[in-house]
Amino acid sequence: MGKTKKVVLTPPDLERCQAKKPNGVNFLTLGGRPEMIRCTDKPTVIAKEIKPGKDGLRGSMSLCTHCLLKFMTQMSPSQEDYAFEEIGRDVAKIEHGKEC
Ligand SMILES: [Zn+2]
Repeated sequence: MGKTKKVVLTPPDLERCQAKKPNGVNFLTLGGRPEMIRCTDKPTVIAKEIKPGKDGLRGSMSLCTHCLLKFMTQMSPSQEDYAFEEIGRDVAKIEHGKEC
């Protein structure tokens, strides 16, 4: 582990949602370790931090529709903290709640 002066942020992955979710194993499950696995869905939005974090950097990550809804309900981000950028036209489905 060497010292890294410049922190490089992971660019948003437009092909795969960058959210992590539990793998379904919990402490009551024998023969498995609870861990977070990366979502495999195709992302529909990029969530961007508006205010820089403690490190002075503004992060961003791609999210699929499912993870975005989860993010909204669990984190309840304020509009001052996050901006959401659409990827393609799928986001219109979220906003209107129906398929085109
Ligand atoms: Zn996802």
